[in-house]
Amino acid sequence: MIRIHDTLTGEVRPLEPRDPGKVGIYACGPTVYGRIHVGNARPFVVFSLFKRFLEHQGLDAQLVVNVTDVNDKIYDAARDAGVGSEQLAGEMTKHYVRDTDALGLGRPDREPTATGTIDAIVNLIQDLIDSGHAYAAEGDVYFRVASFGAYGKLSNRPLEDMQQGEGDDAAALKESPQDFALWKAQKEGEDTAWDAPWGRGRPGWHIECSAMAEEILGVDFDVHGGGSDLVFPHHENEIAQTEAARNKPLARIWMHNGMVRLEGEKMAKSVGNIFLLHEALEQAGRDALVMYFVSGHYRQPLAYSQDALDEAAASVERVRDFARRLDAKAPADGIEPYAERFFAALADDFNTPAARAALFDWIAEGNRRLDAGERLGPGSLQEMLWVLGLDNLLDTAEEADPEAERLLEEREAARAARDFGAADAKRDELAALGWDVRDTPDGPKLVRSG
Ligand SMILES: [Zn+2]
Repeated sequence: MIRIHDTLTGEVRPLEPRDPGKVGIYACGPTVYGRIHVGNARPFVVFSLFKRFLEHQGLDAQLVVNVTDVNDKIYDAARDAGVGSEQLAGEMTKHYVRDTDALGLGRPDREPTATGTIDAIVNLIQDLIDSGHAYAAEGDVYFRVASFGAYGKLSNRPLEDMQQGEGDDAAALKESPQDFALWKAQKEGEDTAWDAPWGRGRPGWHIECSAMAEEILGVDFDVHGGGSDLVFPHHENEIAQTEAARNKPLARIWMHNGMVRLEGEKMAKSVGNIFLLHEALEQAGRDALVMYFVSGHYRQPLAYSQDALDEAAASVERVRDFARRLDAKAPADGIEPYAERFFAALADDFNTPAARAALFDWIAEGNRRLDAGERLGPGSLQEMLWVLGLDNLLDTAEEADPEAERLLEEREAARAARDFGAADAKRDELAALGWDVRDTPDGPKLVRSG
């Protein structure tokens, strides 16, 4: 049985799929107004790996991650950059895909865009107007919060603390300050708009997700995910829209990941320049970055620092070193209790740090056995690493490139001539190419640096 913490009930609840054997997951994706940072990458990693785990358990999982490609932030950024908002959103979407591709975890099954879902959005808004849950006002459309008695049940806060953050312009048009926009009439300086029965304009942020999720997964689907910063107002409003229009829950479990934190000003300064995902990937490598993400429980905040990345890189190296000692043809006697612990931890609210601990306990035990002269194979290590997105660490057949081989020979020649300065210089050149030199009883070997 797989159990997941549900923000709506505050409990860790069994995952009971609507359609037996299938799990539909919708996770809120980026608003494409700039390059994404490590914090934006966390839900991408969490839900991609959660899907892998479900597949490992024999479930047919479908992951939907949307792209919000029309939004105030996009208009503002496009204006600052002096380009059209469609062009900016298009470029940033390409960057987002490239940057997340580099995580090496594959793509979500579906990646709908807001601008590609306008018809479904307009239809959903019309249904809300027809049923008295929404009203048009000077080309805008607002959700009537007072019409939905369950409003606030996700974020559990008193009505007076619910600020929609929609500015003063909207305030005059709203029946009540808690109401929120479903549609916004086109304003001066906004270069994209669509026709709708109540006027030309564009969708609000919250309605996009209700429409995209329903179009692909239907309602009452299994898991709705996203960062904990989206609980209010975004997810509260998604619930209100869909439940008011369809009289059915939007999702069965609300799964929220904690934030990535830059703690303290000093730390923010030292890692600020590698907080963008593509820069972090370049600097730390995808293996260390993925290892970093799985080191924390998805619900907890995760501190981002050079130390945390270094620690992750060392963990990657430990796995690689162990993998190099394995014999593909040998059995993995003794691994099963560790594998059971690993998968039980993931079934218990997707506890990746506990799973990771089981993995490293096996590596310690395995190394002891290897030291004692036993032969060991990978066994279920491959499955465990695959679920964490790190099964590539088992590929130890590393063909060095000719350039690296030449440098290694030159290093050895320099060492033989006791010219250690030259030998160190060759080692630095190798490091720049991504190779470490490891001195082994069989002579020096080239290994990919972590
Ligand atoms: Zn969303």
